[in-house]
Amino acid sequence: MSTIAAIATPNAAGGIGIIRISGEDAFLVAEKCFTAFSGKKITEMKGYTAAYGQISEGDSPIDEAVAVVYRAPKSYTGEDVVELCCHGGLFIMNKVLRLVFKLGACPAAPGEFTKRAFLNGKMDLAQAESVMNVISASGEAALNAARNTLRGKVSIKIGEICSSLINSAAALAVWSDYPDEDIPAVETETLYKTLTDNEEELQKLIKRYDSGKAVTEGVNTVICGKPNVGKSTLMNALSGCERSIVTSVAGTTRDVVEETVRVGDILLRLADTAGIHDTKDEVESIGVSIAKERIETADLVLAVFDVSRPLDNEDTELLEMCKEKRCLAIINKSDLAPRFSEENVRLYIPHVITLSAKTSGGEEKIRVALEEILGTGGLDFSQEMLAADRQYECARQALECIREAKTAIDSGLTIDAVNVSIDCAIEQLLTLTGKKASEEIVNEVFSKFCVGK
Ligand code: GDP
Repeated sequence: MSTIAAIATPNAAGGIGIIRISGEDAFLVAEKCFTAFSGKKITEMKGYTAAYGQISEGDSPIDEAVAVVYRAPKSYTGEDVVELCCHGGLFIMNKVLRLVFKLGACPAAPGEFTKRAFLNGKMDLAQAESVMNVISASGEAALNAARNTLRGKVSIKIGEICSSLINSAAALAVWSDYPDEDIPAVETETLYKTLTDNEEELQKLIKRYDSGKAVTEGVNTVICGKPNVGKSTLMNALSGCERSIVTSVAGTTRDVVEETVRVGDILLRLADTAGIHDTKDEVESIGVSIAKERIETADLVLAVFDVSRPLDNEDTELLEMCKEKRCLAIINKSDLAPRFSEENVRLYIPHVITLSAKTSGGEEKIRVALEEILGTGGLDFSQEMLAADRQYECARQALECIREAKTAIDSGLTIDAVNVSIDCAIEQLLTLTGKKASEEIVNEVFSKFCVGK
């Protein structure tokens, strides 16, 4: 495989910039541009050692740097690797990188270092996918989840489910292929129990992923309600900063203002809108149509109502729209005299809280309610957690196949029919961890990475 190189640190000025070189010729390429002040040659250095020296192009010095040497297979990629740590100026880093290319290395594609780690058996596909999650983790819980997957927790769990299914499939195959041999019959009850146990394990993983996503990636949330119910005030209270325009003149939050807000462990990707209301005002009607559209596409709706005014047609229209959605109804302005009760709203939406966005304490009520709605309350991030939609989809399909196998047993179908479904589940699980993933899937996974990782 060719020797690749890329800047491994961000494409911006920083204290240190790292140029990573990996492949057969990594030492030779580095040696041609790096001279250690100690006189030691890179090709002679032991793995996990560093040398301080000079990077030069011919006789022209570029920068002083530290070269760190990793010898195959004890490196991130499993190949020979040199990391040249120079000063983190964009100009310097690019100059060193161009020089390294000139000396024989090729530009690394996005995720190519991690792809090589996968191809060299340093990690499986599930672990590789969690590398980007570790990098993008925005909170303790998200980091915990990603780190556990990177350490192989998901892979171990999927491996266990897979082995148990393979054992069942093998026993079934032997039994049906050699009917004349004296092989004990596979007990349907035992098989059924094995399938049910694995079904439960997969179900747990799938459910945890759904809830975990609210923490790791955030929930696409829309905050809506008529003008002046207190949406902006609420949003500002949640995010702790004055981003959207708060005003007492009805209908002045015209545009959609987006921001990310952390409520406890949950990450809300919020959109504040002009609210749902009929208007001739051209600018504002854009906001209204966006709000309606957003409700349909949102994963979570925060529907806000003003308790000091009776519920009217617009409120009812919003309640109707939210009936089928995952929704939290927030009855605001509890500091004022109420004109309707929670029960009026609960007829449409099961989760209702009453608070005052202007006084403190409301955030806590919202957190508790959201944890219940999103199922993040008792979420244990030290447990294994799927790291990507792709893994989720494989697990979901494997679950389907296991259920098909159980239905086949229930309806007295042949052993072959049961085995086809079990095989399909095994196939999906092997794709999940990458043991049997096609080249297209592997390429797709790594195309989402950044260059240098
Ligand atoms: P929006 O149009 O829904 O975004 O509403 P705003 O957040 O702009 O609030 C409209 C008005 O209601 C402003 O004058 C706020 O100060 C006021 N308001 C918001 N929340 C409360 C509350 O809990 N109690 C009271 N009394 N007033 C509130």
